[in-house]
Amino acid sequence: MSNTEKRPTLKAVRGTRDLLPDQTPLWNRVEATARAVFARYGFGEIRTPVFETTELFARGVGEETDIVSKEMFTWEDRARAASEKAQQLTLRPENTAGVVRAYIEHKLGETGQLQKLYYIGPQFRRERPQRGRYRQFWQIGAEIIGPQSSGAESAIRDAEVLEMLASLLDELGIRDWKLELNSVGSAEDRVRYNAALREALAPVKHRMCEDNQRRAETNPLRVLDSKDEADQEIIDALPKIADYLSPDSAEHFAQVKAALDACGVPYHLNPRLVRGLDYYTRTTFEFTVTTGLGTQNALLGGGRYDGLSEMLGGPRAPGIGFAIGEDRLILTLQAQAEADGTSVAAGKLDAYIAPIGVEQNPAALKLARELRSAGLTVEVGDGSFKIGKSFGFADAVARKIVLLGEDEVATNVLTVKTFATGEQVKIGREQLAEALKA
Ligand code: AMP
Repeated sequence: MSNTEKRPTLKAVRGTRDLLPDQTPLWNRVEATARAVFARYGFGEIRTPVFETTELFARGVGEETDIVSKEMFTWEDRARAASEKAQQLTLRPENTAGVVRAYIEHKLGETGQLQKLYYIGPQFRRERPQRGRYRQFWQIGAEIIGPQSSGAESAIRDAEVLEMLASLLDELGIRDWKLELNSVGSAEDRVRYNAALREALAPVKHRMCEDNQRRAETNPLRVLDSKDEADQEIIDALPKIADYLSPDSAEHFAQVKAALDACGVPYHLNPRLVRGLDYYTRTTFEFTVTTGLGTQNALLGGGRYDGLSEMLGGPRAPGIGFAIGEDRLILTLQAQAEADGTSVAAGKLDAYIAPIGVEQNPAALKLARELRSAGLTVEVGDGSFKIGKSFGFADAVARKIVLLGEDEVATNVLTVKTFATGEQVKIGREQLAEALKA
């Protein structure tokens, strides 16, 4: 290719996106609120690697799930030295498996205490991209896990997590959220329920869509997830998990509901909510919203995973957790603001300093340094700009403009204009920081 030939432009990979500075303030506000709420409930942050061995997800999330069977970004990582082995690695499609792996690896259970851990970070799934569904997306999640003696299995933990989520969504200003709640029972309950589902599906499955015919064989629980219009009548008539819960599981679920009732957190029982990951036991839940997400209306999902640690070769460590789809949370907040005619955009800077000539550039930078160290948000122009151009730039990014010419430098009295009111005043340098905060 010759140097003059135009090269094709490169774009972000399908299903991934850039978040530009007009969007990131909202992301940062959401994350700061989540961190503050989690801290109030005694959660600490954990950061696990974005890639792990493929086996972690195969064992943890489950070979039969959509995620593991078709959505993972996996590669064969070649050995680089004789001391290294080649391995199959995968970009994490979710974070719970990684957190539980870390819990086991660092023997966090040996403290005897409940571990309350949260994370914020990107996850990767090779899904068909659409609004609210990306190949790199962010999750804000938390887990409560510990040895049985720490009370990790108690229903109060389930209710605490749900109450915390209700508080977080309220604090973020998410309206009209709906908590959908179910119990999928213990692993043993599910064996009996799966058998009942298989039996009920056997005479009718030939009338269902291809996906459901396959699921009816491989993982009948997944049939309950199906959105296929024509199959809904058959699915609604299938046996309900509630009728297959052991007395222990039923009692656990009753305790979760009683604690939610006591806290005044509303919920809707949804017997078809089984979730897409194999590790769930007992309580499962989703929070859905009506604004902004269309068909991808699940803002977050989670549940209890009492057997996961053992599936990963660890000690018995019951746990419960959730993952919020941060991209969807942001879309919801943006859609709500749009419906209200308000803005989620970041505010303007406190001041724009406009040197009148290039000779004032050093003094302008010095003034900006003073104001920034006083905590103000400040942009500095360039003395080569015509004054009209400086005013134009300043008006676009800042609430006030500070003019800095030869006189101002000599007298230390500055001219400040407030754009909203058009008011122009002279202010001594000593009072400038205070005046700009106003
Ligand atoms: P899951 O890990 O599948 O239980 O998903 C938890 C939450 O993550 C969902 O409720 C969504 O809000 C979000 N989520 C899952 N997959 C995606 C995706 N591909 N793009 C954006 N958000 C997602």
